[in-house]
Amino acid sequence: MKIAIMGAMPEEIAPLLEKVGDYRLTEYAGNKYYEATYAGHDLVIAYSKIGKVFSTLTATTMLQKFGAELLLFSGVAGAINPKLKIGNLIAATKLCQHDLDITAFGHPYGYVPEGKQFVEADTGLIAKAKDVAKEMDLELMEGIIATGDQFVADPVRNKWIGDTFNADALEMEGASVACVCDAMGVPFFILRAISDAADMDASFSFDEFLESSAIESANFIIKMVEKLGN
Ligand code: SAH
Repeated sequence: MKIAIMGAMPEEIAPLLEKVGDYRLTEYAGNKYYEATYAGHDLVIAYSKIGKVFSTLTATTMLQKFGAELLLFSGVAGAINPKLKIGNLIAATKLCQHDLDITAFGHPYGYVPEGKQFVEADTGLIAKAKDVAKEMDLELMEGIIATGDQFVADPVRNKWIGDTFNADALEMEGASVACVCDAMGVPFFILRAISDAADMDASFSFDEFLESSAIESANFIIKMVEKLGN
C-alpha cells in the first residue's frame, strides 16, 4: 500500500526521514516529496509549509500525483483541553475549521454550504492507533482538533474555540488535509503532540518543545506504519 506521511514543518518530518534511510527526492509545485520503502510499504513523505492552503496543496499532490491510498499526518499542536500536557499525543476523531465564518447568513461556525462542519477521521486507523499506544505504553487522547490560519497565543481565543467546537487541541493544517482526504475517499489519521497551551506563553513554549514533541509524534507514526497490513 502507498502511504502518505505529511507534516507542516521540516522538524515534523526530519525524524521520519532519518528512520526510513534511503529516499528518492522529487520537487513539485514548490515542495519536496521523499519516496521510500519502509516495513513493506511504499511511502511518500513531505512537509507542506504552515497553514490550510499549503497543506491542501500537499495533501492533494500526495494523493493525486503520488497515488497515496492512505494519509497519516504527524505534527505538533496547541492544547485546549487542560488534560493535554507538553509532549502528550492526541489523535483527531474529527476536525473543523475554527476560522471559517459565514455566520452572518445563519450558518454555524466552520460550515459552508455543501461542506461539513466536522470531517470525521477513519475509525479503523484510530483503533489501530489505540493498539499501538498500548504496545508503546503511551497515553493517546482521542478528541476534536480545530484548525485555522492563526497561531493561537491567546487564552480568550483558545476558550472560544474550545467552547464553540468542543475541541481539545488546535493547529493550522489538520482540517484542510481532512477535507482533501474526505473528498477523495482516502482514509486519514491526524496525530499531534502538544507543543504549547495556546496561551500567552505559546510562542516560547512552541520554540522550546517543537523538536521534542515532533519526535514523539513521528515515533508513533512510524510504529503505526509498521503495524499497517499490506
Ligand atoms: N515558529 C514557526 C511558526 C509556527 S506556526 C515559524 O516562525 O516559522 C505553528 C505550527 O505548529 C503550525 O504548523 C500549527 O499546526 C502548529 N501549532 C502548534 N501550536 C499552535 C498554536 N498554539 N496555534 C496554532 N497552531 C499551532
